[in-house]
Order: sequence, then C-alpha cells, then structure tokens
Amino acid sequence: MKLSILEYTQEELEELVSPRFRAKQIYNWLYQKHAESFDEMANLPKKIRHELTQKFNISPVEIVQKQKSSDGSIKYLFQLEDGHTVEAVLLKMKDAQYDENGELIHHAKFTVCVSSQVGCKVGCAFCLTAKGGFIRNLSAGEIVAQVLEIKKDNQIESNRRVNIVYMGMGEPLDNLDNLSKAIKIFSNENGLSISPKRQTVSTSGISSKIKKLGQMELGVQLAISLHAVDDELREELITMNKAYNIASIIDAVKSFPVNTRKRVMFEYPVIKDVNEDIKSAKRLIKLLEGIKSKVNLIYFNPYQGTKCKRPEPEQMKRFQEYLLSRGLLCTIRESKGIDISAACGQLREQELKR
Ligand code: SAH
Ligand code: SF4
Repeated sequence: MKLSILEYTQEELEELVSPRFRAKQIYNWLYQKHAESFDEMANLPKKIRHELTQKFNISPVEIVQKQKSSDGSIKYLFQLEDGHTVEAVLLKMKDAQYDENGELIHHAKFTVCVSSQVGCKVGCAFCLTAKGGFIRNLSAGEIVAQVLEIKKDNQIESNRRVNIVYMGMGEPLDNLDNLSKAIKIFSNENGLSISPKRQTVSTSGISSKIKKLGQMELGVQLAISLHAVDDELREELITMNKAYNIASIIDAVKSFPVNTRKRVMFEYPVIKDVNEDIKSAKRLIKLLEGIKSKVNLIYFNPYQGTKCKRPEPEQMKRFQEYLLSRGLLCTIRESKGIDISAACGQLREQELKR
C-alpha cells in the first residue's frame, strides 16, 4: 500500500526529494494550494512528479458521510485506507460579520475537532467512542488529513487559519508520537501554519503523559477532561482514575508550561444528578486553586442506551454562577451540533448499525 505524503514533516521530505528545496514547494502545493494530485504541482520537474505519484498517495482519508447542524457545525465521517472510520467536526465559533455596505468586517471563525485514534482504551462510562473498544492509533497523516479535507470541503481559503482541538475520538496522549508529529506538521509555516497556540490537546488525565507532553515544549494548549471532583465518582466514570487520581492530574498540570496569555481548560461534562451539585462546584474551586484555569461546563449529550441524562439549564447556570462569583472563569458549552449528535463517536455508531 502506498503511504500518504501527509505523513511527513518538511524535514523528512527534504531527505526524500532532491534537491531539498523541493520539499518546501510540495508543502506549499499540498497545504496552501490544496493540490489533489502530484501532476498539478507545476513547478516540479516531470520526473519528480512521476516518482512521487509512484510512491505516494495524497490523502489517506475519504469523506463518507456529512451531517450539518442548525448551528452551522458540520460533522464528518472519514474512512481510512483499512476501512475503519473516524469522526471530525467543523465547529463554527463565530459567524462572518458585514458592515451596512455588505463589506466583510470579520471572517467566520472555525475550529476543527479531530480524532486521534480509532476507538479508545480509556473506556469512560459515558462515552460512545469507548463502547467499541480500541482498534488502533491514527498516523500523523491521518490526523492532519482531517483538517485539510475539511478546509477543502468548505472552501475555507488556505490562508485562513482554523483552530484545532484534539477532542474527537480517542485519547491523544495514548498516541503521543503521532500526535506530536501532527502538531509539528500543522504548525509548519509553509503548510497549514496553525501555530501550537491554536492547538488544544484534550486528555482524560494520563498524568505521566501530561508531564511528558509538557517536557516536549511543543507550545500546545492543554484541556483536561475532569468529569468529577472526587476520586470515588471519577473512578466510576473512568476506571483509569485508580492509576492516575485527581491529585496526580492537578500535580501534572501545575508543571505544564502554559503560554502566559492562555489558561488550562478543564472540561466538565455535567450529568444530571451525578456531578451537578453546588458541593461539587465548591470542591472544583478548591482543586483549581493556584492554576490559571478556565472551566468549560458541557451539557451531557445523551445517546441511545445510556442512563446518563442531560442536566437542566437552570442547574447549569447555578453551577456556573457559583464558580464565576468566586472568581473562576467558566463558560457553558452547548454541545455544539446537538441535533447531529456531535459528541464524538455518535455518527460512527449510527453508521455501523446500518
Ligand atoms: N480522550 C480525550 C479527548 C476526546 S473526548 C478526552 O477524554 O479528553 C472529548 C470530550 O468529549 C471529553 O471531554 C468528554 O468528556 C466529552 N464527551 C464524551 N462523551 C460525551 C457525551 N456523551 N456528552 C458530552 N460530552 C462527552
Ligand atoms: Fe476515550 Fe475521551 Fe471517550 Fe474517555 S471521553 S473514552 S478518554 S475518547
């Protein structure tokens, strides 16, 4: 099977093509001119184009399904070369703004939520991705391709940067080698030019790997899926918490190099009657003392077969206001694209059932 050209950093490509400057041109064609074939790469000699075509494919993923939400988010199901599927979501964070003459003031702002694995080993009780078990890691090229294909599909101009969140299917820190390579490929200025500051790695809290990611000094943002504020409940939701308890996660976060203008994000999916009480809010404040943090309360997104329920908006507000009144930054995230079941894993599940 041919490898995808998206698997390579520019430095690696420089070792593969000669002279070395061809690598920069190839990057430019792939990520800025959105070339679909090597033949389009007009400033490369025919011989090189031919060699590249013999050796490499361009994209290792193919869009097989698409669902548009009323809020403008679009969920994609991608098929990989071995037939497995993963999801990614284009989230519209802000609409484009025009003045009274119809002139553009602000471009729309997009974030792409990408998958890092087929399935997941962590096995959180409420997460649909976990239900099918773990199949395999995604390669760096398969991670990169999700963003590239989504940009192409929406005709997002190549010089418009999108933000990336590693919050799709899988635990990114369980695939640290390929993740760090993808982060580097994304940030290359001859390519998609998405600086690490615009990339957020979301983890269920593998403390040892949070430390490792920090030591790599990649400059990415960190999001922790906290879910619960006491170990007993957290263990029920994530058995892994036995090995990496809350204290160890907080400890790892405290040693993580955070950009001075950014905050560590704590994801807290709120489940009705489980973790929505004010006592939990109090403990959350205590836990996050001394960390420049921001809490994201997420409405639990129910799926068929789960006992977990979506909380009432009033309770969400109460929880948020309690945190805000004590000086903790906190936003409520409407599960974007709730009408298209955008909690990752849900589109794939529907497809597999067909
Ligand atoms: N494995 C990583 C990243 C992918 S999961 C992690 O756990 O952080 C991304 C987020 O989706 C997690 O914060 C998780 O809490 C949330 N999530 C999973 N299932 C959900 C559901 N049914 N409703 C709402 N959020 C969900
Ligand atoms: Fe894996 Fe994240 Fe789902 Fe937990 S929430 S099972 S870590 S994808």
